[in-house]
Amino acid sequence: MLSEPAVRIRGLVKRYGPKAAVDGLDLDVAPGSVTAVLGPNGAGKTTTIETCEGYRRADAGTVRVLGLDPVADAARLRPRIGVMLQSGGVYSGARADEMLRHMASLHARPLDVDALIERLGLGSCGRTTYRRLSGGQQQRLALAMAVVGRPELVFLDEPTAGLDPQARRATWELVRELRADGVTTVLTTHFMDEAEELADHIAIIDAGRVVAQGSAEELCRGGAENTLRFTGRPGLDVGSLLKALPDGSAAAELTPGEYRITGEVDPQLLATVTSWCAQHGVLPHGISVERHTLEDVFLELTGKELRG
Ligand code: ATP
Repeated sequence: MLSEPAVRIRGLVKRYGPKAAVDGLDLDVAPGSVTAVLGPNGAGKTTTIETCEGYRRADAGTVRVLGLDPVADAARLRPRIGVMLQSGGVYSGARADEMLRHMASLHARPLDVDALIERLGLGSCGRTTYRRLSGGQQQRLALAMAVVGRPELVFLDEPTAGLDPQARRATWELVRELRADGVTTVLTTHFMDEAEELADHIAIIDAGRVVAQGSAEELCRGGAENTLRFTGRPGLDVGSLLKALPDGSAAAELTPGEYRITGEVDPQLLATVTSWCAQHGVLPHGISVERHTLEDVFLELTGKELRG
């Protein structure tokens, strides 16, 4: 039997004035998975996540988190989820280690606080108040606060924005460990590599709706064409080559002697091209097959580059 999604969103609409920040969004998050929500600035990622966390009320549609309504059932839901907000949400005059220990004390089975501090490289900030921590330290502390209660589900809003590479790696490791522990993670990110590294499922959202979703592999396979390039003598009969290729392919001589084929580039197409070359006495140099990256798919769907 399939288990119920950890998060189930149907037809979510959230308006700020006349403008719909989220405009009929549907999303399921499988229990125990890592789901990355990708989208350009202003796409509605934070609004969606904050609605799941119970910080914003939906104008229309339904949101269920661990089977509960995030607003009506907030008291029952809050102890079961961990939340890392994009900015702060932490009392700025308190000391880092005090806050973390306090948070741990509110939960029945918290993680080991000292291990977590060590893990996230927060050892040197224990006695420092939150407001005096660097941006990266504040962020790592917010992450620690989100996970210390050993939640069933964590929401991480841009967890690694502005972190140095080492802290970023440590954050990724932590997310992987949460996953191994059966924790469900929903994160927003502007980093394609982060989504590819961590996520079982990626939802690309634009203008308040999910425009594509699947694993990184599925998105790259389904979203766009692939490219095959080679160099050969200039002036080859591209029309004749194209006739040998399956429907939907395109072939072009970009600059003299530099050829590009786009379409469903599979082993059979590669064999067809090399066999056509053999028949025409052409020795192709530098054959390369380029898979479309998640970034290409994203650009194609949204027309926008991801910016932090
Ligand atoms: P980013 O990647 O920049 O964080 P996002 O995808 O998280 O963007 P949201 O923060 O959800 O997007 O914002 C979606 C839209 O709603 C934006 O146009 C934003 O300006 C608007 N918006 C968000 N919060 C409010 C608010 N409190 N009042 C008015 N408009 C808002």
